[in-house]
Amino acid sequence: MSQHLKRLEQRLRAARADVEARGETFYPGPSRVHLAAFPPKERWDDWVELDSRAWPARQERRFMLVPTTCFNCESACGLLAYVDRDSLQVRKFEGNPEHPGSRGRNCAKGPATLNQITDPDRILYPLKRAGARGEGRWERVSWDEVLDTLAARIRAAIQEGRPNEVMYHVGRPGEDGFTERVLAAWGVDGHNSHTNICSSGGRAGYHYWMGLDRPSPDYANADVILLISAHLESGHYFNPHAQRIVEARERGAKVIVIDVRLSNTATHADHWISPQPGSEAAILLAIARHLMATGRHNREFMRDWWNWREYLARERPQLEPTFESFERAFLELYAEYTFEFAAAESGVPAATLRELAELIAGAGPRLATHNWRSAAAGNEGGWQVSRCLFLLNAMTGAVAVEGGVFPNAWNKFVPRPIYTPPHPPQWNELTWPVEYPLAMNELSFLLPHFLKEGRGRLDVYFTRVYNPVWTNPDGFSWIEALTDESRVGLHVALTPTWSETAFFADYVLPMGHSSERHDLHSYETHDAQWLGFRQPVLRAARGRLGEEITDTRAVNPGEVWEENEFWMELSWRIDPDGALGIRKYFESKQRPGQRLTVDEYYAWIFENSVPGLPERAAAEGLTPLEWMRRYGAFEISRKVGPLHQQPVPEAELDDLHVDGLGRAYSSAPRPAPTNVVPLPTPDPDPEGRRPVGIELHGRIVRGFPTPSGRLEFYSRTLAEWGWPEFAVPTYIRSHVHPANLAGDQVVLIPTFRLPVQIHTRSANAKWLDDIAHTNPLWIHPRDALRWGGIRTGDPVRVETELGYFVLKAWVTEGIRPGVVACSHHMGRWKPAQVGRGQGQMMATVDLDHDDTRWRMRRLSGVKPYQSSDPDTARIWWTDVGVHQNLTFGVHPDPISGMHCWHQAVRVRRAEPGDAPGDIMVDTARSAEIYRNWLEKTRSAFRVSPDGTRRPYWLLRPLKPGHDAYQLPEATPR
Ligand code: SF4
Repeated sequence: MSQHLKRLEQRLRAARADVEARGETFYPGPSRVHLAAFPPKERWDDWVELDSRAWPARQERRFMLVPTTCFNCESACGLLAYVDRDSLQVRKFEGNPEHPGSRGRNCAKGPATLNQITDPDRILYPLKRAGARGEGRWERVSWDEVLDTLAARIRAAIQEGRPNEVMYHVGRPGEDGFTERVLAAWGVDGHNSHTNICSSGGRAGYHYWMGLDRPSPDYANADVILLISAHLESGHYFNPHAQRIVEARERGAKVIVIDVRLSNTATHADHWISPQPGSEAAILLAIARHLMATGRHNREFMRDWWNWREYLARERPQLEPTFESFERAFLELYAEYTFEFAAAESGVPAATLRELAELIAGAGPRLATHNWRSAAAGNEGGWQVSRCLFLLNAMTGAVAVEGGVFPNAWNKFVPRPIYTPPHPPQWNELTWPVEYPLAMNELSFLLPHFLKEGRGRLDVYFTRVYNPVWTNPDGFSWIEALTDESRVGLHVALTPTWSETAFFADYVLPMGHSSERHDLHSYETHDAQWLGFRQPVLRAARGRLGEEITDTRAVNPGEVWEENEFWMELSWRIDPDGALGIRKYFESKQRPGQRLTVDEYYAWIFENSVPGLPERAAAEGLTPLEWMRRYGAFEISRKVGPLHQQPVPEAELDDLHVDGLGRAYSSAPRPAPTNVVPLPTPDPDPEGRRPVGIELHGRIVRGFPTPSGRLEFYSRTLAEWGWPEFAVPTYIRSHVHPANLAGDQVVLIPTFRLPVQIHTRSANAKWLDDIAHTNPLWIHPRDALRWGGIRTGDPVRVETELGYFVLKAWVTEGIRPGVVACSHHMGRWKPAQVGRGQGQMMATVDLDHDDTRWRMRRLSGVKPYQSSDPDTARIWWTDVGVHQNLTFGVHPDPISGMHCWHQAVRVRRAEPGDAPGDIMVDTARSAEIYRNWLEKTRSAFRVSPDGTRRPYWLLRPLKPGHDAYQLPEATPR
């Protein structure tokens, strides 16, 4: 760095320290030296900029700056909409400097929200199919007709005792629990999510350790950052995390990336290793063993916070119950995990692994680690990757300390809502089947197979910002299910854009993008708690001008709605007279007898449930709702710290009982919750006292929300529920382990994201499409040579267990030999008969089938077209990649339920007549694969220790009462 730059950096730091000492937000600005590169918030009502298009004339434009929250991934970064004061149109989006998570910064997808709201192909009105499902003919209908039709069907299902026939299947939730509470109010166990094709593998590993299913790494203060993912470019909460990782690197922290692919993240690492896919847990266990063998583990932390006594009592009862015994037992347990063993499994030299282990040992408790999708989502047993990763944190004491990893709920704040309906009274076997008692989330991607087997049917099926035909594996089975009206009575797609799934809907209902809807969020971006508010920015802007808007459709384009108002109105119509007990959860408290409005809903939360917000708002002469509409985010606390060490108040210790392992129970009533972050509910003791904490050094402290109250190195749950061999962190050989591959097969990595794409909803984000629009097959030069001298751009055929797909090759040293990779972000398509769809990224295809044999042939790629946006006439790309997921069978992990995405494939040159984008699949074969993987499970009928379906303490989005957990008297599956 030059002297000049160093001086600038010093000035920047000094300026920042000065501003932050006054408790104000520092706006560093893109140049890194400006003192006010962001518009100061005092001037957000009337901000003046020169019109770039008028250059060289100095023409002023006046804006109102209105905050909202980005909806283009789960990070929920703050955005500022620049609303033109003359036209009341949004002209651009930039970062919101008042947002504690993103701090004014965004990735490319945030500003591209402008493309989405001005998308010339977006759906503007409610549509009803006019022909057969999938035929592509639609007619415009009114919202009233839609609401009355849906309300009547849902009411009938509830009244006739068929509540499980109503299902809401969500892709990107983008909110914290609103819709779950709607379903709870209906008494329907109908929540279904995409999580088992996304993150449940990662979640399971964390959940068994600490009772919470997500990590909150404190990257900014770490000395070593260990990532098993492409976290800097596309990880979970990645922009807020990426900026903190970059800060840590500036301080001198080292970044280690374990990724088979040379991702953008790997290019920024100090150490990048590319192991054999699925071997990650072996590497982590070798490092763990090294820490213990060399005495670099944190003995004090482990002695206090691990459930090592429980492990010894149950697994090694012959040993003396001392920590020293446990240390010896640990070394015996992991004796085989030498660096040489890990090297043999991973292909990474033992010396390199030892070097990494030393680096990690040197970090002590300043070790921030993360694994989310990646290896945990790719492999059978992938959930053990995050479990073995967190083992390193647990050994070094890097848990809930500066620079370590916090449990997510401690860095998250979900406020108590105006109403909290009870969870539903019944169990839904279509989402929580008996074969998967330990699944972290709903077995969503098996739904077509369950429907075909007759396990149930759906009368009203909502897909909401979810595109299972394209996103899930085995998409042709989804098409078969969705086109069968005996299995799916009514399919309602709630979506802002056309999707491969919406083509097979009965109703397509236009929902708003991030500047067109209300939602609340709080995510674990760092050691703090904050609340973000998404809002329809034109509603807020017109509110500032004194207009009262009571229906978001009044400011959105066409008849685009928002879901909050939609669900409230639908619920109101389901129960018009209150007889079903639903209406009371949607009734105004201020105006009894009338429906709740979003203004009242959020005003109540901000006034009653967010500590500090009413006072902060009052200081500026605003109501809490006005304050949130003005600034978009509120920081509740910084430096939350080690909540597990908090003493339990005396009032909660009535009738205290501490068991032999130090678990403390009490009969005191549960205190009123201050927020509603879902916490596990460990079982009471035999006398019915509830667990309140653990005894530590003579005090009762909170501990962790696990059955033992400690970090669970040993999981009694796994041991008692049929998987004793995995009760401790373990290496499970993947379904794509070399021993499971035929000689001519290689591993396909199909999971990685492109940093500038957003699954379904970026299909017409033109700035993003311009950057990234296709997904070639990454092939190492050595493999390209052995497969006949394949060169970049050559068409290749990839054969999977269901069929094949054809795509172009990209020969690169950025991938390990013997492994190929293809991003899942591309390959969007529309059948020829459905019209333009999303014209900027959807190829036109011929979709045909002969019984179970499906064939997709690309008729054309994308091309320039005339629309309200002149840029669509400038489209220069034609190739939009291949939809590889159609050719994948379902691979549910028998424990976590996670779809194991990696594939064993054969790669060869394309055949004459093959064209990129072509696909062939036999769904009879996919049914066979479904049954094969079902064989791996251990049904609750066989393994449940207490006659229930699932351990009650495990998290579940909607949690029925205890009665519903009882297994039925039925023939075991
Ligand atoms: S990381 Fe990018 S896409 Fe995700 S919320 Fe932030 S700005 Fe939006």
